Amino acid sequence: MANTLKNSFAQQTNLIDPQSIPSRVKVDQKRIINCRADVNQLMPIKYQWAWQNYIDSCANHWMPTEVPMARDIEVWKAKDLLTEDERHIIMRNLGFFATAESLVANNIVLAVYKHVTNPECRQYLLRQAFEEAIHTHTFHYVVESLGLDEGEIFNMYHEIPSVNKKDAFVLEHTKALNDEKFDTSTDEKSQQFLENLISFYVIMEGIFFYSGFAMMLSFKRRNLMVGVAEQFEYIMRDESKHMGFGVDLINQLKIENPHLWTRELQERLVQNIRLAVELESEYARDCLPNGMLGMKSELFEQYVRYIADRRCERIGLPRLFGDENPFPWMSEVVDLRKEKNFFETRVTEYQTGGALSWE
Ligand code: MN
Ligand code: FE
Repeated sequence: MANTLKNSFAQQTNLIDPQSIPSRVKVDQKRIINCRADVNQLMPIKYQWAWQNYIDSCANHWMPTEVPMARDIEVWKAKDLLTEDERHIIMRNLGFFATAESLVANNIVLAVYKHVTNPECRQYLLRQAFEEAIHTHTFHYVVESLGLDEGEIFNMYHEIPSVNKKDAFVLEHTKALNDEKFDTSTDEKSQQFLENLISFYVIMEGIFFYSGFAMMLSFKRRNLMVGVAEQFEYIMRDESKHMGFGVDLINQLKIENPHLWTRELQERLVQNIRLAVELESEYARDCLPNGMLGMKSELFEQYVRYIADRRCERIGLPRLFGDENPFPWMSEVVDLRKEKNFFETRVTEYQTGGALSWE
């Protein structure tokens, strides 16, 4: 046991042997995977995009408990402010996201982190893991605030087929990494790692989250469930950063290992994305069996195809569908409000670390 610990420590540093003073890390030694340079030294930074994503994400810090829920509680408890169809949409989305956030967090910590051998990317992954914890915390807070059945919400990924299929799909395409002995020492295994990144960053966070975001944000446009909707806005802002980082990570991995990007891999990825779009469409139909106020499930299905095309373009795959964006207001939320002015809706100005005192 002690030996194993010593060995794994030795893989990370050269501190075990005082006789060997390794040469200082140079930027051009740094690589996304299979890097032999010391992972304990953040500087010198090679991938500015990774550090910038970390800085931007820290600037976006929020906590679900800062969002007032009093109006949501009134709306939820009132008999006549929400239809049964609207309650169904809200419940389904709370159920999907409540466990999807944990699946993403576990994949980062247990699969991705170990194999990304770059300290600035790891710095971002640590931040992302905490954000996923905040997102899971959100659903705990919403369940408590609205007095929902926690068993129903947190078991939907077992009990509701349209939710279960999305999660099972992502897990199926990433299961190779569950093997404790998995590493990225061969091309085949490096491709499996690349497929894991695409399944989580592009399919889970980039496609499977988006019909739900559109549904939940549409409530805010009608001044209903504004607290929960605002929490979904914050989550969506975080998720657009997660996906942005994921896309940069995937593209850099491709630049450094162009031989991994084979025709076979691309065909498999295209097939996966098509299947994912079908599952997300099925989810939208299940959430909206009767539509809501002029928003039929077909519109959400079109939105999912539009989103999938945008994701494909960003990682160098062809557009698959060619749909127009049926919800231009969604890109306003994603593209404009994620930077400045996002906090204007808050009761109090947010201050990072402003309240710390050691006395
Ligand atoms: Mn998340
Ligand atoms: Fe995320």
